[in-house]
Amino acid sequence: MAYDVAVVGAGFSAIAVTINLLKQLPCDCSIAVIGDDPGFGRGTAYRSEFYIHRLNVPAGRMSVLPEEPNNFLEWLEKKGRSVSPELFASRNDYGLYLRDTLAGLLRNRNGRARVDFIRRKATGCVTSDADGWRFRIDGTADLLARQVVLCLGVGAARLPVKDDMIDHAIRRRVIESPWRLSWLSRVGRDDSICLLGSGLTMIDQVLALRAQGHRGAIHVLSRRGLLPHPHDLRHGAPQKPELPETREISQILAALRKQVRSGVAWRSVMDGLRPITQSLWQELTDAQKARFLRHAMPWWNVHRHRIDPALYERFIGLVEGGTLINHAGYVQAIDENRGRACIHYRPRGEQSQRTIAADWVVNCTGMERAGIAHSPLLREMRDNEIVSANPLGLGIEVDTQSRVMNNRGEIQPGLFAVGALTASRFWEITAVPDIRVQAKAVADHIAADCAQDGTHIAQAL
Ligand SMILES: Cc1cc2nc3c(=O)[nH]c(=O)nc-3n(C[C@H](O)[C@H](O)[C@H](O)COP(=O)(O)OP(=O)(O)OC[C@H]3O[C@@H](n4cnc5c(N)ncnc54)[C@H](O)[C@@H]3O)c2cc1C
Repeated sequence: MAYDVAVVGAGFSAIAVTINLLKQLPCDCSIAVIGDDPGFGRGTAYRSEFYIHRLNVPAGRMSVLPEEPNNFLEWLEKKGRSVSPELFASRNDYGLYLRDTLAGLLRNRNGRARVDFIRRKATGCVTSDADGWRFRIDGTADLLARQVVLCLGVGAARLPVKDDMIDHAIRRRVIESPWRLSWLSRVGRDDSICLLGSGLTMIDQVLALRAQGHRGAIHVLSRRGLLPHPHDLRHGAPQKPELPETREISQILAALRKQVRSGVAWRSVMDGLRPITQSLWQELTDAQKARFLRHAMPWWNVHRHRIDPALYERFIGLVEGGTLINHAGYVQAIDENRGRACIHYRPRGEQSQRTIAADWVVNCTGMERAGIAHSPLLREMRDNEIVSANPLGLGIEVDTQSRVMNNRGEIQPGLFAVGALTASRFWEITAVPDIRVQAKAVADHIAADCAQDGTHIAQAL
């Protein structure tokens, strides 16, 4: 099997790259999309069946096509859904929108490149030569592609407690991967739950539990006890941040705080940072990036990644009503007592130990920061010196055009990465408004190369 382009992955990044390639590549080109996820394009984010699981970015900023900003709003209108740029649409609808956008291009094949969907896993990257990159599919067949885009996402983060500190007897009540919502069907109406992690994954689980009729107590335990903030669409336009000359993290934070103290809404300051976040990140030294990750990241996350105000109201109602209890501390061990889980933790700033008793423990620590440990393919590519893992655990090294670099800093011709895997270079590259721009830029690059090269694999075969 030989192709001009291979897109490896099956989530938002892969579908965004494929859509852009289809719009640009000539009809004598061929594309392989290699992904083992049956709901192609939905990934973990956009496959939820719960209507209550909404987008955390307003619909007006969720078009998959950066050059057609109203594309998602037009789809919502066509489907008879309520339409407003400020709407927080359901994530399930967003998954359908992505599928329809791709299907529309595939239906109208005239003048378009050929696409083969290979519903399997890329298990290894054997070698590269003048013909391109050779991948192993499910450990057997080889696939050759001149240009490859890695859209592998990041794995789910592990439980925040060492494996040998979890009593074997309680294992079946510890849910490591809450994205598979089937665990909810095992939960009794009055069961008590302990959610480990207090970010957007936690909110998803709380809303899903309540939608299922759960009425029991919910404990939330995280290192700092920080909870997500809501969007406030009345807060006004983004404000240009007043940044100091230096790139020292403490001084940048001090300048931003000063701007907020002077009366600018903090959301406007955060939104003002958005357009320059990637370039600011690229100006930091490795030591400054490390300091940001160590000291500022939890605050960054809660202020930057906000939620639908209506969902926040429901959530905060549970906190105020005492159904949801928020704890800050470090999990030390989980053992069993009379069929229930006892979560032993050290409260933040204390030396004592406390215990939460719950019927279920759920890992809500979210997606992994973007390491490569979750992917055997990436580990093999690293061992073969094709990719280089970022020392701060932010995916793999790429240049500003998303071209993959090896451990000697050399650009790997025809090999790109898209999505959170490229956080080493871009930092903020997890949400649709950022990934869609990157996906288009990579597709533009590939299309220009194909046009320059002239001969295509489909012709050569
Ligand atoms: C619950 C949730 C809600 C979110 N909500 C929003 C939102 O409202 N707005 C927003 O802008 N952003 C949101 N995001 C962030 C962002 O849109 C997603 O993280 C984005 O979908 C990332 O897509 P991805 O393709 O890079 O990764 P993923 O969705 O993780 O997809 C990676 C895919 O690659 C496949 N794969 C991995 N390895 C291989 C291999 N070797 N061979 C073949 N296939 C492989 C996997 O099976 C998977 O399907 C949300 C994220 C999550 C998790």
